[in-house]
Amino acid sequence: MRRINLRVRADGSVRVSAPTRVSLRAIEDFVRERTPWIERQRGRLSAQRQGERERWKNGSMVTLLGRSYALRITCAPMTGESAHVVDDVLLVRAKEDGLSVEDVRRIVSPLARRLLRSEVEALFARFERAIGVRHAKLRIRRMTSRWGSCNVRTATITINHELCFRPHACLECVVVHELCHLLEPSHNGRFHALMDHHYPQWRRAQAYLDAHPPLS
Ligand SMILES: [Zn+2]
Repeated sequence: MRRINLRVRADGSVRVSAPTRVSLRAIEDFVRERTPWIERQRGRLSAQRQGERERWKNGSMVTLLGRSYALRITCAPMTGESAHVVDDVLLVRAKEDGLSVEDVRRIVSPLARRLLRSEVEALFARFERAIGVRHAKLRIRRMTSRWGSCNVRTATITINHELCFRPHACLECVVVHELCHLLEPSHNGRFHALMDHHYPQWRRAQAYLDAHPPLS
């Protein structure tokens, strides 16, 4: 039997899904009972967002594909916007001062996407043979509620761009998860047994991702 399902999204809004036979009254009661939990989730999300703001300031340490870089933002009105990695420095050139965290991440985004794509391809090479599957196509997308998806029919795997900013184990876990879907489309016992076999630490990575949802 399907239950009422409640989720707090990254923007703080609440999404509730329920089977059609459940009355609106029952759904309202369900949500009301969980108000303290919802408020805790919202508090956690805003703390995470605040931490992210602090992190993307000039001179801070930021993580890109599991590697730490010192963020250096320079203002270069004539050369335009760009982002480069030089040793362990992430160099961001901006047209003007006073960038928001969104601005900085927008400038870093093409670089992050290139790094993510090549890292995911490397992980495919590492795990596909062991699992005994092959993907046909990789897409990198911004997604607000999922870390990855797998179209089993076309063997197309989609990876959330935001994984650039999460620990490397989380990216590994999502890649293995989507590859395992090529053998088993459902999250059933067989699927979990595949995950246990090919990526035994998947629960820890999954818990981290649940606690650090996509910001965008
Ligand atoms: Zn899945």
